[in-house]
Amino acid sequence: MSVLEVKDLSVTYKTMAGDVPAVRGVDLRIDKGEVLGLAGESGCGKSTIAGALLRLHPSGTKIEGTAMLDGEDVLTMSPGRLRAVRWFGASIVFQGAMHAMNPVKRIGEQLAEPIIVHKQADEKQAKVRVGALLEQVGLPARRMEDYPHELSGGQKQRVMIAMALACGPSLVIADEPTTALDVMVQAQVLKLLKELQNDLGLAMLFITHDLSVLVEVSDRLAIMYAGKIIEEGPATSVFEDPQHPYTKALAAAFPAIGDERFRRAPSGLGGDPPDPMAIPSGCSFHPRCPSAFDDCSSVNPPLFVAGEGRRAACLLVEGAHAGAKETTA
Ligand code: ADP
Ligand code: MG
Repeated sequence: MSVLEVKDLSVTYKTMAGDVPAVRGVDLRIDKGEVLGLAGESGCGKSTIAGALLRLHPSGTKIEGTAMLDGEDVLTMSPGRLRAVRWFGASIVFQGAMHAMNPVKRIGEQLAEPIIVHKQADEKQAKVRVGALLEQVGLPARRMEDYPHELSGGQKQRVMIAMALACGPSLVIADEPTTALDVMVQAQVLKLLKELQNDLGLAMLFITHDLSVLVEVSDRLAIMYAGKIIEEGPATSVFEDPQHPYTKALAAAFPAIGDERFRRAPSGLGGDPPDPMAIPSGCSFHPRCPSAFDDCSSVNPPLFVAGEGRRAACLLVEGAHAGAKETTA
């Protein structure tokens, strides 16, 4: 059974200016021990998916679809059940760990809290677990006495990872976990996450705009544009032989892991992703697409089979793979 199975997820923020359809009909599946990489430029809806999976969105936000976590729909869970699931079921590591910790509480206390509450451990048991968790993320156990300001950015991110692992979740969501770190530290934290994921057999949703980082850690990739998945498949084949023109542009923009020159927007791709309140007709990528033709402004392509275990939402792909048999992605 899949750890996570998302079907037809749509998330619409309600704002003074009107509805913001940030995620529009997304399907995702992650099996035990599998890493799904989610990529796409800033504003495509990646963090909105992460937030919806833990129901961390502003109140009033409209969420549709289902998100089955270990067979239970997160989207319809009671608040009490949800609190427990946020530690045992799925946990999140995100960018800017520096702001996520309480500055006036020792690291150890912050790590022990969920363990005491959710694992019903006493303080002594929790302390042993906290020491072990810190060592698991490559920090000496004595650092539990430190306050957050005594740690470097990379060390704080390690503590955030320890916190995400505290109650033994089945799914870890990592949303741009290394983006705020410098390149050397970024590589170390990535290596740590990948090792832990592997050792613990975790299912992981790894989110970043940087495709070269993603291909290093993921088994499969899902590429997002304007709130939809526009390409998906095995990580290496999607990265090395992208089928959707958007994925091609992304892959060309990030040729090597950690290359500083490519940390910004995809080079060679003009313009910006559309505002969710003004999504172009037809294929939402057509105004920026170097391969667009007439039909692209009127036909909104679904995901077509694009090779072994692969799908891509592009009319050119439909033509190239016409007659290919549908495979379950
Ligand atoms: P990503 O993580 O891919 O950069 P986000 O999920 O953060 O993208 O944002 C997707 C879209 O939703 C963006 O257009 C963003 O401006 C909008 N958005 C995000 N959060 C809110 C919010 N709380 N209210 C209204 N719009 C939002
Ligand atoms: Mg984001």
